[in-house]
Amino acid sequence: MLLSSCVVWRHLEFEDFRAECPAGDEPLQRLIWERLDDALAWLVSLGAEPVWEDTENPRTTGKRFDPRALTRLLARDVEPETPLPGDAVSPLVLATGGFAKRLAEERGLLLRANPWSEGDGLDWATARGGAVTGGLDEFYGRALPAPPARIREEDFVPLAQLYGRWARVFTDDGREITPETVSWSENDLAQRIGARAWYVLDDEALEHARDRVEAARAAGGTVVKAGDLPFPTPPGSRVGVHVAAGVTHTLGGLRVDTRGRVEGLDGVWAAGVDAGGVALGGYASGLAQALVLGLAAAEDVAASR
Ligand SMILES: Cc1cc2nc3c(=O)[nH]c(=O)nc-3n(C[C@H](O)[C@H](O)[C@H](O)COP(=O)(O)OP(=O)(O)OC[C@H]3O[C@@H](n4cnc5c(N)ncnc54)[C@H](O)[C@@H]3O)c2cc1C
Repeated sequence: MLLSSCVVWRHLEFEDFRAECPAGDEPLQRLIWERLDDALAWLVSLGAEPVWEDTENPRTTGKRFDPRALTRLLARDVEPETPLPGDAVSPLVLATGGFAKRLAEERGLLLRANPWSEGDGLDWATARGGAVTGGLDEFYGRALPAPPARIREEDFVPLAQLYGRWARVFTDDGREITPETVSWSENDLAQRIGARAWYVLDDEALEHARDRVEAARAAGGTVVKAGDLPFPTPPGSRVGVHVAAGVTHTLGGLRVDTRGRVEGLDGVWAAGVDAGGVALGGYASGLAQALVLGLAAAEDVAASR
């Protein structure tokens, strides 16, 4: 959360949530969609100050916060080094942020997230019989300049190469993999480009991409004239930008119900992206998932004592 743009959002219409994340768990999606507005009001009541009162995206609604201020507010009573217990203790709420690091390493992708979310919650629960969702290879991510670009944590947002919908997309060996359509989030394109790809841009595409291409070049990324690419390009091509998918968070994870209870494990809850299945097949707000599932789990823990 600290590294994020901190827009906590939901789709305006529930049907759009379903349509954009078609493989997701419908009861969990409905929980998040129905509870987010109240959950945001609760955050504000704690003293969180929105920097945007809405999302500035006509498809969505929510609030944007300053991530540093929000983290400081929420982490004030948290002991960050708490080790996971060796044996089952109850109640236990797992919220270790999924396994972006492990997935990125396994698939040769870049990591666009904190370096500590290695799947500790997932491993702890599955070793004790906790159930998992499908989609364990799916992630929310962004195209980033491929190595040798230098990408620091503060570059995760400005270096996102978020103009792929205007690009022709090629593998390193010149096979065109441009999809017929690209979603507004370009998360589907990030899944497709994988470890390496080229975005090939003509003049019109460059109109949408120029600043981000320049940022990629300035970071040491590979930006070349189209004629210098090692494969033939479409007429009118100007430049190629070498990109790689960066994993922001995982979409599959522990299977939970709408109270955050992990299936197959009594007395254990999961919140945030340790819980899987919400946004499978698409893209939705990980922060909304963290906020609503965290509250649902906390309420259920309190009710069960
Ligand atoms: C650049 C960027 C921009 C983003 N922008 C947005 C946005 O605008 N809107 C949005 O909705 N989402 C955004 N996200 C995604 C969002 O940040 C995540 O979906 C969200 O933070 C997930 O919440 P979480 O609580 O599950 O995990 P996290 O916020 O990652 O928190 C998990 C915490 O657990 C810690 N941890 C891991 N293992 C252990 C362990 N064994 N013991 C103790 N602690 C452990 C980690 O260090 C981390 O601090 C963005 C992410 C990035 C990186």
